[in-house]
Order: sequence, then C-alpha cells, then structure tokens
Amino acid sequence: MQKPNMSLKKNPMPTQEAEVRARNFDEVALGYTEEMAIDEALRCLNCKNMPCVTGCPVNIHIPAFIEKIKEGDFEGAYEIIHKTSGLPAVCGRVCPQETQCEQRCVRGIKGEPVGIGRLERFVADWHNAHSDKVPETAPKNGHKVAIVGSGPSGLTCASDLALLGYDVTVFEALHTAGGVLVYGIPEFRLPKAIVQKEVDNLKAMGVEIMTNMIIGKTLTVDELFGMGFEAVFIGSGAGLPNFMGIPGESLKGVYSANEFLTRSNLMKAFRDDPNTPIMKGGNVAVVGGGNVAMDAARTALRLGADKVYIVYRRSMDELPARREEVEHAEEEGIEFRLLCNPVEILGYENPEDKRDPRNGFVTGMKCIRMELGEPDERGRRRPIAVEGSEFVLDVDTVIMSIGTSPNPLIKATTAGLDVNRHGGIIVEEATGKTTKDGVYAGGDAVTGAATVISAMGAGKVAAKAIDDYLKSKN
Ligand code: FAD
Ligand code: SF4
Ligand code: SF4
Repeated sequence: MQKPNMSLKKNPMPTQEAEVRARNFDEVALGYTEEMAIDEALRCLNCKNMPCVTGCPVNIHIPAFIEKIKEGDFEGAYEIIHKTSGLPAVCGRVCPQETQCEQRCVRGIKGEPVGIGRLERFVADWHNAHSDKVPETAPKNGHKVAIVGSGPSGLTCASDLALLGYDVTVFEALHTAGGVLVYGIPEFRLPKAIVQKEVDNLKAMGVEIMTNMIIGKTLTVDELFGMGFEAVFIGSGAGLPNFMGIPGESLKGVYSANEFLTRSNLMKAFRDDPNTPIMKGGNVAVVGGGNVAMDAARTALRLGADKVYIVYRRSMDELPARREEVEHAEEEGIEFRLLCNPVEILGYENPEDKRDPRNGFVTGMKCIRMELGEPDERGRRRPIAVEGSEFVLDVDTVIMSIGTSPNPLIKATTAGLDVNRHGGIIVEEATGKTTKDGVYAGGDAVTGAATVISAMGAGKVAAKAIDDYLKSKN
C-alpha cells in the first residue's frame, strides 16, 4: 500500500503565465499530469463517513473514485464519477468546489482540502483522450420527450432519458448547443471542444438536437404535445440581462455581459475578421462583482482592451466571484474599483453636426464612491453613496454584469405554467414537476442564475420523475 501524502497543500495546478495568457484565449489551467494526480489522490484519507460526498449536489462517490486514481486505474475512476455526473470534464473545471465538496473535506480542517475538482478534471480528460466509448442505451420504448434548452440541465435530462430508451429531441434557440457552457463561459476557462464532445455523445446515443428553435415563437409547448411528445422538460436558463436604469445605458458601446460574451464566444468576435462588431482596444468598465463580471473583464482584456476596470459597489470581502477567478483576474492586470457605483454613462454629442460618426458613443462613466453601512437582510453590509464624491472613469465601453432573470417568453405562451415573482418557473422540488400536467422544469429557469452542477442535478431529478410519470400513464 502506498503511503498517504500528508502535505498540507494541494498539488499546485500548472497554469499559463499571467502576462502570456492575458492576451490569448487558450485555457489558463493546464491540468495535472498522472504523477501529480496520484500524488494528490494520496492526500485523501478515504474517510468512512465521506463528508465530501454530502457537499456535492449530485453526490459523486468521491473517495471511491480517488481510490481508483491511487491505483492508477483512471478509467475505473471515470466509471465511478460517470454513474452520477454526465459532465465531469465541465464540473471539474467550473464547479465552485470551495463551497461544495472541498468545503466539507476533512483535510481542509488543517491545511488545504484534497483537490477534488482538479482530480475530477484529470480523470475526465484522461478518459476523453483514451476512449471513444458511447454509453449504452436501453432499447427504444417508443415514447417521445421534448427538452427545451441545451444547457447543462437540458443535456443531463436528455442523456438520462435516452439511457432509459426514450426518444428524445432537444429544441435549442441558438445555433449551437450547450447553453451557457458555450455562449457564456469563455474558452480560456472551459474549452468548447469539451462541451462539443458531450453534445456529440448525446447525438451518438440517438438524441436529436434541433437548433434555431425558439419555443414560444417557432413552436409553443402545447404544439409540442400536439406533435406527439408526451412530456416536456424546460431548461431554458436565465439569460435575460438586468440593467441599472441609469442615464446613458442605450449609448453605443454599452453591452450586457451576456451579449458581450455571446459575441465573443459564439460569434467569434476574437478573430481578425469577425462577423460581429465588438470593442477592440480602449478602456472598458465591467459593472458587477460576480463570476460573469470576471469572465467579461478577462475576455475584454484578451480582445485587446488597454485597461479593464471592475466597478463594484461593495468591498473585496463581499465580492461574490470565486476567489480563484479574482486572483487570476488581478494577476492578468484587471483593476478593481471597489466601493464605487455608476450613476450615469456619458456619451459624445456634437450639436453642430448630427452626422458626426462619434455621436452616441460612450466617452466615460460617472461613478460615486460608496461606504458600507448596516448589514441587509442577507447579512451583507449595505452600500451607501458618499455625497459629493462623484468622479468620471475614462472608458469607451461599459459592460453591465449585474445579474440575469429567466426569459418570460415560455411563460407568456404556455397556459397553466406558473412562475414566481422573479420569473422562475414554480416546481415541486423533489420532482421538477410544474403546475402544468406533463411539463417539468429545472436549472436556472427555476432557480434564477445558479451553478452548472445544480442545473445538472435538476435535470437528473426531472428525468427520473418524467420516467415515473410516463410509466404510470402508459
Ligand atoms: P443554460 O445554460 O442557460 O441553458 C439554457 C439554454 O436554453 C440556452 O442554450 C438557451 O439558448 C436555451 N433557451 C432559452 N430560451 C429558449 C427557448 N424559448 N426555446 C429554446 N431554447 C431556449 N456556473 C458554475 O457552476 N461555475 C462557473 O464557473 C460559472 N460561470 C458562469 C459564467 C457565465 C458567463 C455565466 C453566464 C454563467 C456561469 N455559471 C457558472 C452559471 C451556469 O453556467 C448556469 O447556472 C447553468 O449553465 C444553468 O444551466 P441551465 O441548463 O439551467 O441553463
Ligand atoms: Fe465537487 Fe462539483 Fe465534482 Fe461534485 S461535481 S464532486 S461538487 S467538483
Ligand atoms: Fe478524502 Fe477529503 Fe473526502 Fe475524506 S473528506 S474522503 S479526505 S476527499
């Protein structure tokens, strides 16, 4: 038996140098080698009560897969993970492990927890490099299910139902499948080839994916039932951007983070000959402090911005983005303007010449300094504007990243589908069943913006409930 590794620190993740990666779109983190993975696996104590497993929303059997890594049986490790998670190469990269599985790891009591996410990524990448095996599906049972949206919730629900023998069709509004995994999270954090491989696997399992199909416009949910689908899963996400409602938000050069990232990720704005307009060069302000804001800021830098600011109204202690992403952003040269709030976006206007091509473009952003007051109902100290402290940030582009909501289109076109006051579809938690018979929902469309793994968990729950529902009906 190999000796446990009692190092208090995780094996560091090899990464591209900050000054090099700040100007390219290649993946920042390079992944463990086999030796590093085995060495990190040896830090796991194979605890009998498995506290880490309770921290994982889909309860991956973490100690069991890590034991396989210790033995050098990487495919065996993959098989264990794949029993509960269909997208390990994605989750190993983007899961907020520090608040989930790794937060509960006993090695974290004194020192750093086991690098569970890094090990999961290693195993999934090893499998993808060494195997083209497509999961075996049960014989077709003749029942049709429609999935709306091809994000992690929809892909997971589709995969689980296909495995059970259902005839599954995914309807996706955009021209590429993958949801936020392809249009939101940038290539330097999640290479698109990884998501494409998962989508190709689904197709190989017999799932049909129809892109450019907006449910609520091209077809309604009721029309899907008319086409012979016996159940519908809605995984349409929360892609509707919020704005602040300040003057100047309709100027040229103001984007929502979703639009900006979609133009870059999906419409390849980073190419020399892009077929979509986007900023190149100049100064950029990203308003907000979440993961999406970090992604937008780091994308702007890679697209050639001279300076990129994160403008956030609270302090670093309250900033909601993952620590690792904040550190990466700082190393790359993103400047944090904390305790600042925009009050107006300023634009160029030449009253002498209405046809001046500079008219209507952003020239700056007026901000006000903030200080922190008493905690709000969520325990976060409330930001209060400091009177008379306005100043102008010299920027040419403003990217608003202050949250998103579920798009109201499906609700508006589906009778009997109830939503809450935030626009989230109301479901039974244990099943994902909505208020409309035969319709299930999960992921961000229900919870509002959340995480990949929670969306996948919801897709799994709904697939099981749809199977029970259709078995009870037929
Ligand atoms: P989505 O991934 O949003 O997919 C919904 C799909 O439905 C989309 O493809 C959309 O085009 C389609 N659709 C919408 N309406 C219709 C319609 N009417 N008809 C047909 N199709 C429709 N989470 C993490 O865990 N870690 C991270 O690091 C992380 N980073 C993020 C970075 C960014 C920039 C963003 C925006 C989000 C990030 N998230 C992260 C959140 C995570 O990506 C989401 O919680 C997750 O993708 C939600 O999955 P979903 O399946 O519910 O919806
Ligand atoms: Fe941890 Fe996410 Fe993997 Fe679960 S899926 S074990 S939370 S990294
Ligand atoms: Fe291993 Fe940590 Fe889980 Fe214990 S809690 S089994 S050490 S990963």
